[in-house]
Amino acid sequence: MSVPRVPSAPKTCTAVWEQCLAYIKTQVDPQSFATWFAPIVPYRYDKQVLTIQVPTKFFYEWIEEHYFDLISKVLRDYVGPGGRLEYTILATSHTPANPVAPVPPKKTKLPKLPGLKDHFTPLHPLYTLDNLVEGDCNRLACVAAQAIIKKPGTTPFNPMILYTDNLVGLGKTHIAQAIVHGIREAYPLKKVVYIPANSFTSQFIDALRHNVLQDFIDYYMGVDALVMDDVQFLAGKEKTQELFFNLFNHLHQLDRQIVIVSDRKPRELVGLQERLLSRFKWGLTVSLEVPDFETRVAIIRKKLAQSQLKLAEELVEYLASGIETNVRDIEGVITSLAAHGVLQQAKIDLALIHQVLDDIDTRVPNEVSLDYIQKTVAAHCKVSVRDLTSKSRKRELVVARQIAIYFTKQHTDYSLKRIGQHFGGRDHSTIVYAIQSVQDRLATDRGFKATVEELKRMINRNIAPRSRGIVVDERK
Ligand code: ADP
Ligand code: MG
Repeated sequence: MSVPRVPSAPKTCTAVWEQCLAYIKTQVDPQSFATWFAPIVPYRYDKQVLTIQVPTKFFYEWIEEHYFDLISKVLRDYVGPGGRLEYTILATSHTPANPVAPVPPKKTKLPKLPGLKDHFTPLHPLYTLDNLVEGDCNRLACVAAQAIIKKPGTTPFNPMILYTDNLVGLGKTHIAQAIVHGIREAYPLKKVVYIPANSFTSQFIDALRHNVLQDFIDYYMGVDALVMDDVQFLAGKEKTQELFFNLFNHLHQLDRQIVIVSDRKPRELVGLQERLLSRFKWGLTVSLEVPDFETRVAIIRKKLAQSQLKLAEELVEYLASGIETNVRDIEGVITSLAAHGVLQQAKIDLALIHQVLDDIDTRVPNEVSLDYIQKTVAAHCKVSVRDLTSKSRKRELVVARQIAIYFTKQHTDYSLKRIGQHFGGRDHSTIVYAIQSVQDRLATDRGFKATVEELKRMINRNIAPRSRGIVVDERK
């Protein structure tokens, strides 16, 4: 559709702009028109150059990117081939003041959006760096977080992209919020915003619906640090991504800190625009890994202390070996243990732990590792894994060790030699002897058989609610 020519070119900037608008209105949807064109003020018209005043730099960038061709075309059609478009930006707190433009008051609050309940995502008070156990799994992320808290925006970690490889419950949100807590504490005057991507999207939609988009944009453009959690939820949300892309550029240009959290590798963020992903590479991309055994033990100790629970060391180790992939599950178990302990005045023993583990179903199915067998047997027999692999020949140790060897032979495909190596460097004949001894005793000793069967159920995770065998008491 071509633009109807007017017989004589209008003289004033208002007239030029109004004619342009009349045509633009036929070309864009009403929502976009109200959002992006209604706020524009014609500013000057001189020698075929039309200057329009836009509220913010972000606005300017948006118009340039999305409507430049349209406006240029309509302008050329009206005023001739020499028609050109220029902008002037109404000053905000972050753009240099235009001497002739009034300065709007700085917005510090999200606009009131009727119908939008939670404008602000409250932070978890315990998600601080102090409460985070550091290990190899998260060391780099912790170092970066500390640096960002010290000098938000001006470290090489801007943006910081924090991700896990398709895993949840490893502390991404914890670290993201710790950064917010940290900056707020170090710089009480800075405006630091934590927002999950899906809340950001709903705010955007609500702002559009209630015609306060500019307030929404101003609010986010005015932050000193923006922490966006679960960015994968922006996938496929084209409009939100466009807005976020411009916001990202604006903040980054001004050295405002940006932290982005993703539950998958950035390059696996299908549905996110390439240009956004390429921005993510400007800073630090760091992943969180599954915590190793020692770190899990430290996390459990910390959570126990927070819940004022006491647990024998072998049970702590047992728990740490039972929950391998997810720190949130560790918390779930401790919360359940605390509840059982308080509500039923139950003694926290191995059987109770098993019951709770079974309820939560945490372990990777069908995978009985040597490590797991050693820890289960050690915890059940009130000895330590170190005892099992030691040279000691104390009778109760020898029995526990033989049982563990017996289960290792049953549940793993380790050779006898390899099993020997894992049990204190014993030779192959000792392993054969151990397995034989257990088999012999199973045939003759009913008490022993009961214990072994109990353990077998535990190892297979088909444990009865209460242990009839050796009960490991809570250590006071
Ligand atoms: P994600 O966002 O990766 O899914 P979260 O940050 O929600 O995981 O973490 C799940 C739970 O595990 C949180 O309660 C968090 O406090 C806890 N957590 C994770 N990692 C650690 C750690 N290293 N030390 C202490 N607590 C942790
Ligand atoms: Mg999270």
